[in-house]
Amino acid sequence: MKTIDDFNFSDKKALIRVDFNVPLNEEFKVTDATRIEAAKPTIIKVLEDGGSAVLMSHLGRPKGQPNPDMSLKHIIDKVSEIIGVQVKFAEDCVGDVAEKAVADLKPGEVLLLENLRFHAEEEKGDEAFSEQLSKLGDIYVNDAFGTAHRAHASTTIVAKYFGDNKCFGYLLANEIEAIDKVLASGEKPVTAILGGSKVSSKITIIENILDKVDNLIIGGGMTYTFVKAQGGKIGDSICEDDKQDLALSILEKAKSKGVNIYLPVDVVAADDFSNTANTQVSAVDNIPDGWQGLDAGPKTLENFKKVILESKTILWNGPVGVFEMESFAKGTIAIGNFIDEATKNGAFSLVGGGDSVAAVKQFGFEDKVSYVSTGGGAMLESLEGKTLPGIAAILK
Ligand code: AMP
Repeated sequence: MKTIDDFNFSDKKALIRVDFNVPLNEEFKVTDATRIEAAKPTIIKVLEDGGSAVLMSHLGRPKGQPNPDMSLKHIIDKVSEIIGVQVKFAEDCVGDVAEKAVADLKPGEVLLLENLRFHAEEEKGDEAFSEQLSKLGDIYVNDAFGTAHRAHASTTIVAKYFGDNKCFGYLLANEIEAIDKVLASGEKPVTAILGGSKVSSKITIIENILDKVDNLIIGGGMTYTFVKAQGGKIGDSICEDDKQDLALSILEKAKSKGVNIYLPVDVVAADDFSNTANTQVSAVDNIPDGWQGLDAGPKTLENFKKVILESKTILWNGPVGVFEMESFAKGTIAIGNFIDEATKNGAFSLVGGGDSVAAVKQFGFEDKVSYVSTGGGAMLESLEGKTLPGIAAILK
């Protein structure tokens, strides 16, 4: 794997695809700079080598049209503050304006290009547009995991114009390494904890990881499709009736592959989908009509705890309850605490994909797990076993 450490950027211009798609408030101020912070080590490495950095990113969904609300101008101050260098700006990401700005760039300087998605060609992966982008640097560095699953001009197509002069930035390399640790080279026992609302959105992940894990913990809304398929009474709990056969076949497959599956045995059931609903703990396969399971129960959490604490490698994707409501967040918080404990005991833990990161941030587990992925969709597709186009383009 070719990373940024394989290059010396002295007197070179690095064209770096970053993911600066950050949230802005009504005054166009950055409200969460995590993604900018995440790209910092890569940018600093280029500058410390004596090179200059040309940063390209998208922001929002301008749909191929310039839109002042989504200009990357809004983030110049924040990027300058984080990198510690006054960042220059080019009003367009291709053409004369961009090329002139790059030509004027001196070692130690940083140039931010205007939003890539102001050009429809970006998302189309247009060749001519990609070639224009490729004129803006000597070495192409991809450090945007969040868009690595898209075959866009700046994330994938542009790479082919750089021959061997292309590599992964630190962030993207770390993401690849973390996924590899969990799915390929992790110390056993390897445990995946999958939650979230629907079997249908997680099925490809489940099928892929059955070949790679020792234990699979299933929680959250997915539970009830499995329980009903096995003849349990789930009351009014969320269920995908058309996925019951699929659930049974997953259980069969797990058995034949020697993977231990752990499903909830008890749940916190509520008489309404509301934070103020009445609640009771009930057996997962005997939930009264009019009640729905919204969080993992105490016996379930004891079982899950035992498995998690015995694990050496842990993957967590998806909450085990409706964590957005305080009354049903306890299970998800408990899982976070068990993973924290296992990590302190030496396990490698990776959290990522979809909503998981939101839950982890909300409850302050960010610093307690080994790695929190920065890519929602990209992480989900990696867990599904797909080769991401942005990663493949560098490896080619
Ligand atoms: P996902 O995006 O598939 O990871 O699903 C995350 C969502 O699943 C969160 O918004 C949770 O509120 C929801 N969820 C978790 N457990 C349940 C449950 N028992 N019933 C309904 N929704 C749930």
